[in-house]
Amino acid sequence: MNARRAMPDVAIAGGGMIGAACALALARRGFDVTLIEAREPAPWHAEDREDLRVIALAPSSAKLLEELGVWQTVRNARVSPYSRMQVWDAMSGAQLDFDAASEGRAELGWIVENKLLLWTLWQALDAAGVRLVCPGEVRDFETRPDRVGLTLGAGESLSARLLVIADGAHSTLRGKTGIRTRGRDYAQRAVVAHVATERPHEAAAWQRFLPGGPIALLPLSDGRSSIVWTLPDAEAQRVLAMDDAAFRDAVGFATDFRLGRIIEATPRASFPLRLQLAQDYATARCVLLGDAAHAVHPLAGQGANLGLRDVAELVSVLSEAREADRDFTAMHVLQRYARRRRSADTLDALSFDALARVFAMRAPPLVALRGLGMRAVNASRPLKRKLVVHAAGR
Ligand SMILES: Cc1cc2nc3c(=O)[nH]c(=O)nc-3n(C[C@H](O)[C@H](O)[C@H](O)COP(=O)(O)OP(=O)(O)OC[C@H]3O[C@@H](n4cnc5c(N)ncnc54)[C@H](O)[C@@H]3O)c2cc1C
Repeated sequence: MNARRAMPDVAIAGGGMIGAACALALARRGFDVTLIEAREPAPWHAEDREDLRVIALAPSSAKLLEELGVWQTVRNARVSPYSRMQVWDAMSGAQLDFDAASEGRAELGWIVENKLLLWTLWQALDAAGVRLVCPGEVRDFETRPDRVGLTLGAGESLSARLLVIADGAHSTLRGKTGIRTRGRDYAQRAVVAHVATERPHEAAAWQRFLPGGPIALLPLSDGRSSIVWTLPDAEAQRVLAMDDAAFRDAVGFATDFRLGRIIEATPRASFPLRLQLAQDYATARCVLLGDAAHAVHPLAGQGANLGLRDVAELVSVLSEAREADRDFTAMHVLQRYARRRRSADTLDALSFDALARVFAMRAPPLVALRGLGMRAVNASRPLKRKLVVHAAGR
């Protein structure tokens, strides 16, 4: 593509799940969008087995994807709905049960392969009129009164009225805006693999909190489960180095054999975990969204869901300004998005952080208190309903 064509309304740096969804959503609302992504996503094939990276998608995300016209394609391809969730504490034995039916819902969410979602979003970009620069890298940018000038690789440049920074948790562009982050290194890694279990997963998500971190079993459509096992760094390295039989035993013990023995396990991958929150989401002609704005602990399975909520808010704020014939790049418009999403994301990120801290406590009186708290929540229908509605995002 010729990157020096007419100036687009919006340039998006980063075509991961969140940047691609944002490009599609803005283009469908009539914005002229250019998406710049360093790496083309790998194609998804139905005949391949489930990819290792999966996410639990909340109903609010499914709704947005439906509005973007991609949810049916994803659903028809391969998703695994889950209608129950059980969370239990290894130390106190207390548990929480969530059930979609008792909340008047068909499901609590869906387990979806990242690769499928990303591929489907990318397939829809062209028809929506999104211009793609791929492979392309935003190396630098400069804000001028009427535009933002981007320096791409290979000496190319591009100007746009607004830059959306969606280049992920290790964002280099966020640093160039001068926006700082706060957070902490969890000194933990999430070990992921798919496992076949002795007993069926019953379309339920299972999560056991151990003092070193939680282990989740998420249901896959072929009957296997995807594990996300959070472990302190050294422990994660030990688990990654185990032979297959030792790994299967370790997962069995860690999940308290809730689904029986682990019969089969795929190779493993792991991801370092950090809490990272941008102190602002907007500067002149630039906004942050997705992991570039917030990286959260995966214990609640919400990172991408928060990113998709950023997308919905940004598109709504920009469209509202444009429909009212106002400058959609005006700082007060960008700040409206920034204020709304930053406070919602911060509240969620800090709640997940607090949960991680509470479940890491080992002192017997605190464990007893935690057990009491969990049992009280489990006995309270209104409280559980609030938690389900909040996690669902609608
Ligand atoms: C173990 C684990 C489990 C998780 N489980 C869940 C879950 O159950 N539910 C959930 O909602 N979330 C979950 N998440 C979080 C979720 O995966 C992320 O929030 C989401 O993938 C972030 O997407 P993104 O598009 O913001 O960033 P990324 O996926 O990191 O995309 C950023 C993109 O930007 C591109 N890029 C970078 N720099 C440039 C540049 N300068 N120019 C152009 N392109 C650039 C990169 O190539 C990349 O494609 C989990 C995360 C982990 C680690």
